[in-house]
Amino acid sequence: MIDFTAKRALIFGVASEDSIAWAINNLIIQAGGTTILSYQKRFKSRLLQLTNGVEGIEAIEECDVAFEDQVKDLFNRLSGKIDMVVHAIGYAPATALMKPIIFTTEEDFNTAMVISSYSLTRISRHAMRVLNPKSSIITLTYLGATGVVPGYRLMGVAKAALESLVRELSVVLGAAGHRINAVSSGPIRTLAASHIPGFDDIMDFMAHSAPLKRNVTQDDTAKASIFLLSDMASGITGQTIFVDSGYNIVGVPPDLDKLKSS
Ligand code: NAD
Repeated sequence: MIDFTAKRALIFGVASEDSIAWAINNLIIQAGGTTILSYQKRFKSRLLQLTNGVEGIEAIEECDVAFEDQVKDLFNRLSGKIDMVVHAIGYAPATALMKPIIFTTEEDFNTAMVISSYSLTRISRHAMRVLNPKSSIITLTYLGATGVVPGYRLMGVAKAALESLVRELSVVLGAAGHRINAVSSGPIRTLAASHIPGFDDIMDFMAHSAPLKRNVTQDDTAKASIFLLSDMASGITGQTIFVDSGYNIVGVPPDLDKLKSS
């Protein structure tokens, strides 16, 4: 049983009720913790609606992680210490996702890397001064970091950097007694996912091929996330943990006989 009584989490990445970060927020509160949600300006009205009257949310704070001064100001505004940080942020310009990777511009490449990868370094650096002892940070990643997934393109490159950063940061944070891990989620319908070309086909293929024969839900991914955030995972750091119905272990998908007859 995970107990977050008297624990506080800073959560980046709630944009709607479908956000993976929202599911994580809800489980943290259910386990007795409190949260501070950091949102991107364009989602302000949705955030106000979503969080209105929700007990356990201490504050909502605007912050664009592409900008050093905004992240610095956010941490300066925080009162008291925190125990958990959730980094559930991903972005690559739609123009880049529509084109084969060889046509990616330097500008789009930099944008995707700064927002989807570097922001974890930036947030971890500022967080170091407000973390309670034995704190835990998690980020969200996807299989496209280690294998080619059609349509994921530049996001896969950014997620590869993100997973590497988790390993590098685990050494720095570990010296101070903190942990950091990544949760590699299977595909879930969210706002961010709606920008990935061919996403519905990917979901169908994964549900068909995965050992559990279904796609994962926000709740599946959030449950593993709060495990990693909690003391139940006290010996785990620098890892990427898959929550994908087991899809990542499949070498060749089942039902090859159907392929032969088609
Ligand atoms: P989402 O659209 O709900 O969340 C993405 C979040 O990124 C949004 O809250 C958005 O405001 C935030 N963001 C983007 N640019 C930002 C910036 N410059 N500053 C601050 N915030 C910014 O979608 P989601 O699917 O819940 O995504 C959360 C994380 O999960 C992302 O890292 C995503 O890559 C990852 N993930 C998603 C899936 C999936 O299939 N949905 C699978 C694996 C991993």
